[in-house]
Amino acid sequence: MSRIAILDEATIGQIAAGEVIERPASLVKELLENSLDAGARRIEVVCEEGGCRRVSVVDDGCGMEREDAVLALQPHATSKIRTARDLSRVRTLGFRGEALASIASVSSVELVTRLRGAESGARLTARAGRITDLEEVGAPEGTAVTVRDLFLNAPVRRRYLRSPTTEFGYISDCVGQYVIAHPEVALRLVHGGETALHHPGSGERLDAVVSVFGAEAARQVLPVAAPGETCAVEGFVSRPGFTRGTRAWQWFYANGRPVRSRALAHAVERAYHTLVPAGRFPVALLLFTLDSALVDVNVHPAKSEVRFLSEGDLHRFTERAVRQALQGVDLTTHLGAPPAPSAGAPLPEAADASGTPAPAAALPLSWEASAAGSRAPGLPEARAQIHDTYILAEGPQGLFIIDQHTAHERSLFEQLMSGCATDLLRPMPLTVPFVLSLTSREANAARGNLEALRSLGFALDPFGRDAFLVRSVPAALGGGGCETALRDTIEELLQEQAPQTLDARREKVAALLACRSAVKAGDRLTLQEMQAIVRGLYEFQSRFTCQHGRPTVILLSREELEKRFHRS
Ligand code: ADP
Ligand code: MG
Repeated sequence: MSRIAILDEATIGQIAAGEVIERPASLVKELLENSLDAGARRIEVVCEEGGCRRVSVVDDGCGMEREDAVLALQPHATSKIRTARDLSRVRTLGFRGEALASIASVSSVELVTRLRGAESGARLTARAGRITDLEEVGAPEGTAVTVRDLFLNAPVRRRYLRSPTTEFGYISDCVGQYVIAHPEVALRLVHGGETALHHPGSGERLDAVVSVFGAEAARQVLPVAAPGETCAVEGFVSRPGFTRGTRAWQWFYANGRPVRSRALAHAVERAYHTLVPAGRFPVALLLFTLDSALVDVNVHPAKSEVRFLSEGDLHRFTERAVRQALQGVDLTTHLGAPPAPSAGAPLPEAADASGTPAPAAALPLSWEASAAGSRAPGLPEARAQIHDTYILAEGPQGLFIIDQHTAHERSLFEQLMSGCATDLLRPMPLTVPFVLSLTSREANAARGNLEALRSLGFALDPFGRDAFLVRSVPAALGGGGCETALRDTIEELLQEQAPQTLDARREKVAALLACRSAVKAGDRLTLQEMQAIVRGLYEFQSRFTCQHGRPTVILLSREELEKRFHRS
């Protein structure tokens, strides 16, 4: 007897449904996509018990005629493509013709629809893949689909559903994603009789951010806009001070379709490199418009993953676009209310918007040299030091509270990286070169990084098997503690995740040097020294956090002070 059999229709349907319909949120996703494809301007999503009991999606879209409504529930029935050739240029969210069929095969469905301009509508019910009733009814223009008894014939699936609260969380994320993508559509999400999300459909994407994430988040985001012929991106990213513990608020879209992408998440991470602490994630809502030849949407049954044909280019493009959004904006952490989202004017006399630091004198080793220099207008002026740790500086915007160590560290780091700290990196020849003996592993690491070390002012010559003669150290170290600094540096290079490229290694070494050479918390400073730190910090765009992502400056704005003292 043959062991292979062709499966019956119902089984095929259930298997296919397994790929598309994972949980109640999948219903919401597919139904919402259909409503958007139907040109709806107003959509209401109603669910009960996290969607496990009921999900309804009601729209005012184009509707269907009776015959189409019957066809819509069949597998591979779609109005959106005709042949495989159309796949490469689909503009609609749906195209597989499987969603309604999949939903119907694992639940009870009621579909009420009236074609725009038609006399009457149709009402159709189906259960476990079979149409149970079809009648003519009066109905508003548009379509209403109600799904009940999800997984009625798939008890295992049913058991895997999480609590209603968890399931509703997925639903609300899903609805939020489409609100961000379609700010022009009025959308309401109701759960257990209560409105959980309401977006009026103003068409403004920032309003959509308010509807989905709240007013505070909307104040904390910066617009991203990078137009282009084959690839463009728009959306928002958050100020570095506003982060989350997970990537849950990073949403990416390819041609209007929410997609998951590690590559894009990584590009965002790169753009925020050194701006946010490890383990914190900025908000990123990035909508890409791509030439349809550059993206394959047909690689995932739920269409939640796509393949980008030149991922490397897209990665670079994204990193650049996000960096641009962060540039030229005052990212100072505020005490009290931060400024309105777009009002982040750069501080006067900060580096210009191109991000190139002014070629001003590097933060000096001899403080006097620079502090004596002319004081740029608008540059905060150091007034006092408290706890031997914080500098209080006054600027036109208000009171700046500056962490002396992180601030100094940051500006040293920037100077080292931008190469304008020639003074700091000037190799300082040692009058008495010393021998550095290492373990063979360390020696290996050192040998592989001689160039990176040299570009930072350490000149090492091989000296016997696992030893080096150190002839010079960077002037930044001022001779003191240079052996420890060098050992630390080499140890750093030995770490398992040691960076591979020369640039990345230089960055590591520079970070270490900056940290070592910067003034410490607890160091008492003169006003001149404080002013030199303020000045050094304000020459760089990324002055708002140290390279570990901790804030360097906190601003208590004049407005905030006035508000607190009831002066306004
Ligand atoms: P797809 O969206 O991939 O075409 P679906 O199974 O989701 O497949 O829907 C099948 C067809 O039913 C769609 O192509 C569309 O013509 C029609 N349809 C589904 N939902 C709606 C709706 N809300 N309004 C109008 N037409 C709809
Ligand atoms: Mg669809």
